[in-house]
Amino acid sequence: MSTCLFCEIAAGRITADIIHQDADFVAFRDISPKAPSHVLVVPRRHIGGLNELVGPDRGAADGLLGAGVVAAHAEGLAPGGYRFVINCGQDGGQAVGHLHLHVLGGRPLAWPPG
Ligand code: AMP
Ligand code: ZN
Repeated sequence: MSTCLFCEIAAGRITADIIHQDADFVAFRDISPKAPSHVLVVPRRHIGGLNELVGPDRGAADGLLGAGVVAAHAEGLAPGGYRFVINCGQDGGQAVGHLHLHVLGGRPLAWPPG
């Protein structure tokens, strides 16, 4: 069985720069930041991505968004603003198959994204 990078980080078996965690979510710094502050928030439980948020897991992103706001406050981004991004699938640019929220900030962010 192949291992999942973000499951390993959430379990503490692979090191990451964790900025916040609770029973359900872990927030850590992106290893290749795209903004002065770039944090990833992941559920501890493996969920492959947005496409799995159907049926009983339909509400699973609620907590993820809340944990993202906590991370944004912890990073000092709240006053200036920030952006949440969730990439989904090949066209969406998802590289890691474990649901994750990008929290980006610390500079004005261009719109629309590429
Ligand atoms: P995505 O393209 O939406 O799947 O985003 C995956 C993100 O994971 C990218 O921004 C990577 O830089 C980041 N990443 C990959 N490996 C690690 C790691 N070991 N620790 C922290 N971030 C990582
Ligand atoms: Zn996983």
